[in-house]
Amino acid sequence: MKNVAILGSTGSIGTQTLNIVRRSRDLNVVALSCGKNIELLERQIREFEPRLVSVETEELANDLKNRIKDLNVKVSFGLDGLCEVATIKESEILVTAIVGMLGLIPTIEAIKAGKKIALANKETLVTAGHIIMPLARELKVPILPVDSEHSAIFQSIQGISGNKIEKILLTASGGPFRGKTLKDLKNVSVKDALKHPNWTMGKKITIDSATMVNKGLEVMEAKWLFDVNVDNVEVLVHPQSILHSAVQFEDGAVIGQLGVPDMELPIQYALFYPERRKGSVENLDLFKISELTFEKPDLKTFYGLRLAYQAMYMGGNAATVYNAANEAAVNLFLNEKIRFIEIPEIIQGALENVKANKALTIDEILDTKNETEEYIKLRWM
Ligand code: NDP
Repeated sequence: MKNVAILGSTGSIGTQTLNIVRRSRDLNVVALSCGKNIELLERQIREFEPRLVSVETEELANDLKNRIKDLNVKVSFGLDGLCEVATIKESEILVTAIVGMLGLIPTIEAIKAGKKIALANKETLVTAGHIIMPLARELKVPILPVDSEHSAIFQSIQGISGNKIEKILLTASGGPFRGKTLKDLKNVSVKDALKHPNWTMGKKITIDSATMVNKGLEVMEAKWLFDVNVDNVEVLVHPQSILHSAVQFEDGAVIGQLGVPDMELPIQYALFYPERRKGSVENLDLFKISELTFEKPDLKTFYGLRLAYQAMYMGGNAATVYNAANEAAVNLFLNEKIRFIEIPEIIQGALENVKANKALTIDEILDTKNETEEYIKLRWM
């Protein structure tokens, strides 16, 4: 029996993880967390019987305690609650399905507690890859990628000894606005930006896919997970989302993973690694697909992707500035306070204006996040 804890169990990745648990006799949920959606969390508690849960605030925790007073479940809240879920003694693996930099401290605490990490929460690696990867290596804690592209890369390097990766071919669907120009995007609505052609995901990552900032975050994620230079991570727009990414090796061989776009496959692979299991994912019918196409990304329209490379060249705290500015900008866009095309403008402004530092420690990373949010408040709100 494998005991699982989930940060963000009410979200897109969290609920798909629970679908897998529901079908698997040898997975058991010991702890769950969410932000505000306590109705869904209550249903999850009644079905999966965790011993610990956590929510965003004390008020929500009291509300939830009231709803489940017939059950023996500990209810925590806030960052301490997330850390409790991340480090619960009984768990073997933590699924980090929370959104944003909030996942940073709980993930580090889980690694320190020796928990395997099934990592969906890419923002954590983007801002603190230089802390997380060495720590995980030192403590021999596996970081198992859940992001479909990184899972594909991880699957493609199994059985290959030494780091012989010449290039990572990171695929991108291109999002709902592929083929559009900046002028076309001037007045797009939140609803338009939330219409992803191939994947159903949480709102933040769906907007990130529309701006292609998601691919920028993934370039950084790939750098940390697979120890490659960002110049060796090439983005290919592949609208069918069938090749989930590939690796080119020294000898010229390219090995990739293909499949229908369904997050249950990479989540399941991370949960059972190195075992492969029969799941619910539909078989790929290449005759039905018939055509796989690849294009270079349009870095003029989707310059948020270009800025990710720029942030990595800048080094120090620039990746945190990039990520924190994007998180704040996406929030403003979802609340209809700014236009879609202002998201990369805000990121660029933050990269140019927030004080650079080496951001080596967690405190410095969190200071950079606050400074970036302060800059955006002063300049854009
Ligand atoms: P969702 O928005 O669907 O879910 C986010 C989860 O985090 C929810 O459970 C939410 O709770 C919880 N949460 C939000 N704010 C807080 C808070 N302040 N305190 C505690 N919990 C909070 O996101 P996704 O599942 O789409 O994405 C999660 C992560 O996985 C992201 O980092 C994303 O980039 C990554 N990812 C997602 C993919 C996907 O297909 N969705 C694919 C690859 C990576 P509540 O429901 O109560 O708001």
